[in-house]
Amino acid sequence: MKSVKHWINGALEDGDSRTAEIFNPATGEVSGTVAMASAADVDAAVAAAVAAFPAWRDASLVKRARVLFRFRELMYAHRDELAALISAEHGKVHSDALGEVARGLEVVEFACGIPHLLKGGFSEGVSTRVDSYSIRQPLGVVAGITPFNFPAMVPMWMFPIAIACGNAFIHKPSEKDPSASLLMARLWQEAGLPDGVFNVVQGDKVAVDRLLAHPDVKAVSFVGSTPIARYVYESGTAHGKRVQALGGAKNHMLVLPDADLDLVADSAVSAGFGSAGERCMAISVVLAVDPIGDELVDKIVERVGKLVIGPGDDPKSEMGPLVTREHRDKVASYLDLDEGFKVVVDGRETKVLGGGKAAETPGFWLGPTVLDHVPAGSRTHTEEIFGPVLSIVRVSSYEEGLRIINDGVYGNGTAIFTNDGGAARRFQNEVEVGMVGINVPIPVPMAFYSFGGWKASLFGDTHVHGTEGVHFYTRGKVVTSRWLDPSHGGVNLGFPTNR
Ligand code: NAD
Repeated sequence: MKSVKHWINGALEDGDSRTAEIFNPATGEVSGTVAMASAADVDAAVAAAVAAFPAWRDASLVKRARVLFRFRELMYAHRDELAALISAEHGKVHSDALGEVARGLEVVEFACGIPHLLKGGFSEGVSTRVDSYSIRQPLGVVAGITPFNFPAMVPMWMFPIAIACGNAFIHKPSEKDPSASLLMARLWQEAGLPDGVFNVVQGDKVAVDRLLAHPDVKAVSFVGSTPIARYVYESGTAHGKRVQALGGAKNHMLVLPDADLDLVADSAVSAGFGSAGERCMAISVVLAVDPIGDELVDKIVERVGKLVIGPGDDPKSEMGPLVTREHRDKVASYLDLDEGFKVVVDGRETKVLGGGKAAETPGFWLGPTVLDHVPAGSRTHTEEIFGPVLSIVRVSSYEEGLRIINDGVYGNGTAIFTNDGGAARRFQNEVEVGMVGINVPIPVPMAFYSFGGWKASLFGDTHVHGTEGVHFYTRGKVVTSRWLDPSHGGVNLGFPTNR
C-alpha cells in the first residue's frame, strides 16, 4: 500500500500522524494513505518557501525560463506515468488523463515565455533628463489549492506561471488523488528548480485554513466547489491576501433548430460524459429549441448506447467510475427525484467492462444517464451534479433558452450550436457566462488566454493563466529616474555567456 507524503524543501516529509485513505474507484478498494497536514506542517512548508524565495526572485529571467523548459521536457517524458497515477486514483481513462497532462503542459509552454511576458513599459524624458518605467515583481510565497477532478492540469494552471514570475509555491492537492503532485515535485527538482521553491502539503481544511491565515502567504489560487471557493475568497481576503477562487458550474448547450444534429449529438455525448461528467466545463444541460427535441434525444441515446464503461487502465474503456462512493451515491440520487423528468437512459443499468450492471459492480460506478423533459428551474436542472447525468430541457425559442442560462447562478461555460452566424454573435454578446463555445461544446481557453467563469463560478477579479495569471502572481511598480552622470561598464570584447 502506498503512503503519500508531503514535499517540503525538496524532500518527502511524513508530517503529522493523521492520514486519510486513498481508493481505487474502479474496485472500491483502499489503495493507500495520504498524510494530512497539521498547521505546523504548513508552517514548515511556508518557512521553506520563504527561505527559497529571495534567491529564486533574483535568478535571471532566462535562468528561470530554462528550468521551465527542462520541466516541460521531463513532464512530457513522464506523461504516461503521470496519467497512470491519475487514472488509478481519480478513475478517468488513461487517454483522458493524458489529455489533461497535455493541456497542463500548454501552460508550462506559455510560462517558458516569461522573459517576454514580464516586459514593462518605458518612457524616455517624462521630464528633463527624467525617465519612467514600469516593472512587475513577484509576490513572495503563494499557494494553490486544487480539486480532485484534474490533479495535474488544474495545478498547472497555477504553478508554472507563479514560479516563472519568481514566486515560491505551495501546492495543496485534493486528498482524493494526491499522488500526481509528488511526481511533479520530483520532476521540478530534476529540472533544476531550487529546493523550497515548490512544496506540497497534503491535507484538508486544516491545511487550507492555515494557508489562508499564514501571514507569509501573499496570494491564494483556489479551484473547487462554489461553497468552498466563496469561503476561501472571504477568509483569504479577510487575512489581507490576493485571492482568485474558481467555483462550480452548470453548463448549458443551446441548440437552435438549424444546427447539424449529428454534430450536436456527438458533442453533447463527448462533453456530457467525458471524464464521467466530472469536469467543470462538462455540458450537463442541453436546451433543445422546438421542434428538434425528439430527434436530438434519439441521436444522443443511440450514441450513449455504444459507450464502453470500464476501468481507466483498460484501453477499451471510454468512461471510468466516479471518484468516491459518496459522490457516486449523491449523483445517482438525482435519478430518484420526483421532478417530472423521464429517464431515457438509466446509468445504474449500464454494463461495466469485466463486471455486471453499474449499480451492482464493486467500485464507484454509474453509467451515462440521460434525463428528458427536465423542468427548467428544478433541482436536477439547476444544481451541480458533477457526474454522468445529461439533462434535456425543452424550450420554445432562442430567447427562452438564453433566459434560462442567464437565470442560473453559475456562469462558467456554455455553448450554442447553430449555422446562423447572426444568432451565434448575438449569443456571445448576450450570455452571462465567462467561456463561450460556438459549435464547440467545451470551450476551454488555450493557455495564452485566461480561464475563468462569471457569477458563482469565480470569486475575485482575475482569471487563471494567460496574461491575467501573470498579473495575479506579480505586483506592478513604476520607477522614475534621473541620471545626470551615467557611468560605463568597462571593456568587454566577448559575448556574455552566463546570464
Ligand atoms: P472541493 O471544493 O470539495 O475541494 C477543493 C479543494 O478544497 C480540495 O483541495 C479540498 O481538500 C479543499 N476543501 C474541501 N473542503 C474544504 C473546506 N471545508 N474548507 C477548506 N478547504 C476545503 O471540490 P472537489 O470536489 O475536489 O472538486 C469538484 C468541484 O470543483 C466542482 O464543483 C467543480 O465544478 C469544481 N471545479 C471548478 C473548476 C473551475 O475552473 N471553475 C475546475 C475544476 C473543478
